[in-house]
Amino acid sequence: MPNENAGSLRVFDETIDYEVRRSEDATQPRIDVDIHGVAVVLPAESDIDPQELVEDNARWILKQWRQYQDHREQAPSRRFEPGETFLYRGDDRQIEVKDVDKSHVEPETFALAADAVEEEGIQDTLESLYRRKARLVFKSRIDHYADEMSVEPGKLELRNQRTRWASCSPQRTLSFNWRLVMAPDDVIDYVVVHELAHLREKNHTRRFWNLVQKHDPKYEEHVDWLTENSVQLIFTEDDL
Ligand SMILES: [Zn+2]
Repeated sequence: MPNENAGSLRVFDETIDYEVRRSEDATQPRIDVDIHGVAVVLPAESDIDPQELVEDNARWILKQWRQYQDHREQAPSRRFEPGETFLYRGDDRQIEVKDVDKSHVEPETFALAADAVEEEGIQDTLESLYRRKARLVFKSRIDHYADEMSVEPGKLELRNQRTRWASCSPQRTLSFNWRLVMAPDDVIDYVVVHELAHLREKNHTRRFWNLVQKHDPKYEEHVDWLTENSVQLIFTEDDL
């Protein structure tokens, strides 16, 4: 008897595994494809055959699935150990565990304090360092551009959202993904300018982009850089 919770789809030369989920909230059957795989979501009482559904949508599933596979293959797989490199402000730096009071960033290394590593491990120590530096870098760029653009931002929050680099709330709070501090400075500046521009123009109108361009004439290059390199800015696989 076939497994009720999973199946596989054979399309061209690929075998794509999928899982089947029942959902009280689903009103229609649907197929979700993301970086983690393919899922068929059926309304709780539905008697639709999931295999038939995936076969009817095989081409669409394959196309989506291949995009996510490519994305996954480009993702750097890094280990949290001395000698491994991670990006910081556009340059690779090596992890080094040192007998220092406070973890810090050096021109070619992340110098992680041995005591902190002992207590929390390399991953958490490195993330704390990234977050501390991210706050400083974003704050100083926000101050710089807020002045230049004559806007008054609210407080700065750090987050880690898989699909967003930054956002601006109606209360003028600016939220930045701390992983953005891995990107080159001109890309960081673009994101800062973008969010500050939202304090003037809520939506992505022509006026909005004109304002962005005024303060970041090469903004289009920076948008492209982020689109093409977002996968380089992951910290762990959870960020994919
Ligand atoms: Zn925006």
